[in-house]
Amino acid sequence: MAVQSNLDKEFLKKIEDQLLEEKARLEKELSQFTKKNPHNASDYDANFPTIGDTEDENAAEVATYSDNLTLERTLESSLRDVNGALKRIEEGTYGICKYCGKVIDPNRLEARPASSACMECKSKFSK
Ligand SMILES: [Zn+2]
Repeated sequence: MAVQSNLDKEFLKKIEDQLLEEKARLEKELSQFTKKNPHNASDYDANFPTIGDTEDENAAEVATYSDNLTLERTLESSLRDVNGALKRIEEGTYGICKYCGKVIDPNRLEARPASSACMECKSKFSK
């Protein structure tokens, strides 16, 4: 049997609501300048903007595109974290650190619902 976190249902429900809200916000933001990859539902491709044909306009297109790519990657990785957290709620493993298997501090989960690692591991691995 998998490790179960012993967070109460009400707490999990609140977290789930927060995550769903965050997911909707991220998807909406992504849809404003990207296309969903038809072969991979969690992958988005930034649209290449069409501004004009002069050299300046072409340069502006490339600059916009590269900004969009950066933003796309940031949003996409947040979305992946959110989806991962929702999946863990579904599986009953939400709130367990993916590195050490200990229960993550609920205060941390409340502040950052998509967290998948405890503070200790996070500082150990994010250096
Ligand atoms: Zn840990």
